[in-house]
Amino acid sequence: MNHHVNGHPGLINRPPREINSKVAITRSQDYSDSDRSIKEALDLLGLTKICEKGDKVLIKPNLCLPTPPEDAETTHPEIVASMVRLAKEQGATVQVGDSCAWHLSMELVFETSQVREAALAAGADEVLDFAECDFVEVRVPDPRVMKTVAIPRPVAEADVIINLPKMKNNFVTLTTLAIKNMFGLLRLHDRHRYHRTPMDMAWACNDIFKAIKDQHRLTVIDGIWGVEGATHAGPVCKPGVVLASEDPIAVEAIANMVMGYHALESPHVQVGMKDDLGTGDPAEIDVLGASVEEVLHPFQRSLVSYVSRYTNVTEYYGGTCAACLWPTVALPPVVDPDKKYAVISGARVFLADDLEGVDEAYLVGTCACTPNHQHKGFMDKVRVAKKVIKLPTCPAMTHLLEERMGGVYDQARDAGYRDLIAVDGVALTHLPDTVRPELLPDVIERKEGRKKSWP
Ligand code: SF4
Repeated sequence: MNHHVNGHPGLINRPPREINSKVAITRSQDYSDSDRSIKEALDLLGLTKICEKGDKVLIKPNLCLPTPPEDAETTHPEIVASMVRLAKEQGATVQVGDSCAWHLSMELVFETSQVREAALAAGADEVLDFAECDFVEVRVPDPRVMKTVAIPRPVAEADVIINLPKMKNNFVTLTTLAIKNMFGLLRLHDRHRYHRTPMDMAWACNDIFKAIKDQHRLTVIDGIWGVEGATHAGPVCKPGVVLASEDPIAVEAIANMVMGYHALESPHVQVGMKDDLGTGDPAEIDVLGASVEEVLHPFQRSLVSYVSRYTNVTEYYGGTCAACLWPTVALPPVVDPDKKYAVISGARVFLADDLEGVDEAYLVGTCACTPNHQHKGFMDKVRVAKKVIKLPTCPAMTHLLEERMGGVYDQARDAGYRDLIAVDGVALTHLPDTVRPELLPDVIERKEGRKKSWP
């Protein structure tokens, strides 16, 4: 497979690099020999040391959700433990840390993922919930979207950062690998504002990486088990690989190829390559150990566009961002088969006709609720509906589940629509063949009013 992209007209027009980046690929069927797969990868890279005696090493796994290791959403505890052992053997002080998504309980994440127990048993000095840490402002060199970034003090003060992402799909950015794993360094409210589009995410994550670039020593991608299909709900797959590199862009590009995608298909790689965080051009990367062809494991794709599964719910999108997609598809909170609904989000929405006969029209997000973001006459057409419900907060600018911030979900709850939850969006924006089937019936029963509210 030749994915040579450098010099392609219109892509990233820069001279070829003289020194290639290295990415090591090792194989493992399960997690029983994680020490071996990681050490073998480091040997291939020629890295005898990942730190100096006395260094403060910060290990950053992906601990986004309270799910068990066999769901493959989080970096496996054995991979974390192996890396802790390695750093301890080399005389470092070791901290392991992350923060979770959507204001879920980090205590539950540590427990369910089994990472805290494994890390401490392997000798980690501390396991940190970043949300509980002090944050310090750090300068971003050559910034795109943020001149400074607030990151947890232990991260800012670490001598060495080891990045341990999981190999997974993501419906906004296609994959979530080396660069996006650094999103977990942000406070939750800083994180959501970049969740609008793939490019927002790519610029933001690369800026975060620039701030810690000099501390980043190594990225090791846990691809022994991964998640394909739908984001946060897809089936577990078993590529059986570990990828490691000092170059976060190179390891992400090669991981994309292992997953059956183009090396540059996730925007993080293009942006990181352009901003010189590394190279995503396979012609500039030495792949060591197993080849991409030998370990190729095409992932089932995550779809990026969805419509409501209910035929009496009509959606109207005007260039809607990914952040508005989930609440849009999750509305209305409960679907009455005898009613007609319209759900509208985005800017410059096209409405062929007015909403006569519609019982409830939902305007989701700042764009949909702001007349001067719409075509002339838009509100006149909407007002014809029997009831218009405005949820005027931009979901990308607020926490999804936080009470105080007045985000779309809170506004829906305050307006009496108590059953609208982010989880509905996760389940309903996935097709039965791309999602773990056991997740869907519960949401559908609740959505159709046959089961009472979320706990
Ligand atoms: S309100 Fe507008 S800017 Fe905000 S997420 Fe929705 S479509 Fe995007």
